Amino acid sequence: MSILKVDNLSKDYGKIKALQNISFHVPEGSIYGILGPNGSGKTTLLGIIMDVLKSSGGSYQLFDENPADSHRKRIGTLLETPNFYHYLSAVQNLKITAAIKNRPVEDIDRVLDVVNLTQRKHSKFSTYSLGMKQRLAIANALLGDPEVLVLDEPTNGLDPVGIAEIRMLIQQLAQQGKTIIMASHMLDEVEKVCTHVAILKYGHLITHGDVNEILSNDDIVEVASIDVAKLKNALINFPGNPQVQIKENVVHLNFPAGTANLEEVNRFCFERGIVLSQLQLKKKSLESKFLELTN
Ligand code: ATP
Repeated sequence: MSILKVDNLSKDYGKIKALQNISFHVPEGSIYGILGPNGSGKTTLLGIIMDVLKSSGGSYQLFDENPADSHRKRIGTLLETPNFYHYLSAVQNLKITAAIKNRPVEDIDRVLDVVNLTQRKHSKFSTYSLGMKQRLAIANALLGDPEVLVLDEPTNGLDPVGIAEIRMLIQQLAQQGKTIIMASHMLDEVEKVCTHVAILKYGHLITHGDVNEILSNDDIVEVASIDVAKLKNALINFPGNPQVQIKENVVHLNFPAGTANLEEVNRFCFERGIVLSQLQLKKKSLESKFLELTN
C-alpha cells in the first residue's frame, strides 16, 4: 500500500510557482524525507496533503484512496509548533489539544511515555528545554496512535542533543510500524534517519527514491600521467563507461559506490602504453552529491 501518492501536483502563489508537477509515492513503513533548501516547497507540499492549502493542479491519494477527513484522522501532524500554554503542564496542554483535535484524552499518559516526558509531565511548559518542547509537540501528534506522522522540520532550532533525541524517537516510531513523512533541509539528517527521499529545488522534484541509491557516496578514482589529454581519451573507453573529467591536470573517473577497482584502471592504462604518476581512490562526499543534484 502507498501511504501517499502525489501525481503532478502544482501550487502557485500568484506568480510564484511553489510546486511544479511533483509526482512520487510514499511506501508503507518508510521514513520519507522531503529534502530541499529553504523555499523549495516542502511546507507547501505538506500543507496541501493535510488540507491546510489547496493545490493549483494535479492530485494526490492517501492510503490508495481519494483523500478525505477519515484518512487524515489516521495521520498525526507537526506542521508548526503548537501554541502550548507556558503556565500549564504537559498533561494540561495535551488535554486542551486533544479536545481541539478530537483525539482521546486517555492516550495522554501513553504518548508522554513514548516521548520520554513522563517524569516531567506535571512541570510547567515554560520550564521545558527546547528539545522537551519539541518532544511534547511530537507527543501531541501521536495522540490517538495514528499510523502515519507528518513532521515539518522536526529538529529545527534544537541543539545537538535535542536533535539526536528527536532523530532516535523518529526511528523508534518507525520500528513500531509507523510511516513517517518529514521535511528537512539537512542532508545529513535525511541520510541518517530516512529510508526514502524526494529532493525539491525551487518547486521542482530533482529526484526521488531509496536514500541508499540516491545519496550513495560515489567512488572517484583520480589518475594522472604526463599527457593528461591522452589519458582522458583512453579512459573514455574504460569498461562500464564511467564519467571522465579533467580537474587541475588530474583525470577523475566517477564510479557507482563500491565498484571502482584501482588494479583494473592501472592495467587498462598500462596496456595502452600509459604510465600513471598518480592513482588514488576517493569518496565523493554526500555534500557534493547533494550540491550537484540541486545544482
Ligand atoms: P522553508 O524551509 O524556508 O519553510 P520550504 O521548502 O518549506 O521552505 P515553502 O515554505 O513551501 O518552502 O515555500 C515555497 C515557495 O512559496 C517560496 O518561494 C515561498 O516564498 C513561497 N510561499 C510560501 N507561502 C507563501 C504565501 N502564503 N504567499 C506567497 N508565497 C508563498
